Amino acid sequence: MFKKVLVPIDVSHAERNGELIERAKQLVDTPDGVISILNVIEDVPGYVAAELPAGIHERVLERARNELENLAKKHDLPASTEIHLAHGHPSKQILEASEKGDADVIVIASHQPGLADYFLGSVAGKVVRHAHCCVMVLR
Ligand code: ADP
Repeated sequence: MFKKVLVPIDVSHAERNGELIERAKQLVDTPDGVISILNVIEDVPGYVAAELPAGIHERVLERARNELENLAKKHDLPASTEIHLAHGHPSKQILEASEKGDADVIVIASHQPGLADYFLGSVAGKVVRHAHCCVMVLR
């Protein structure tokens, strides 16, 4: 059904991530299909950054990369799987990555569990409104 699937992964809310990956696997149904997983590291304001210990930025990056690699391993994703890290506003970076990578579909969670009273979280809501490709929202 889809050839390029983008899965935005929030490493600070791991509860939904396995489900997102499994759904992405189901959606890629061509042998040359590619799953891209993406974590966006949010920028901190300059006055906060100035107070942070040296090397924190590198450690955050490394932790995020490890989390994505472990997720890919745990769910047996193929070697063709792309792992991406970006910096900035999550929704903006997800939308940019979907366009740059020519994604056919973005698979995203509607919310953290426990916030089910609201249909969409802020990131998922912006992605649904502005994406140029299909978006599958997991409730
Ligand atoms: P909530 O308000 O419950 O966090 P969001 O809409 O903000 O809901 O987040 C839902 C989904 O958006 C996450 O499961 C993930 O797929 C994506 N997402 C949110 N933040 C990030 C991030 N920093 N990097 C990548 N994806 C993210």
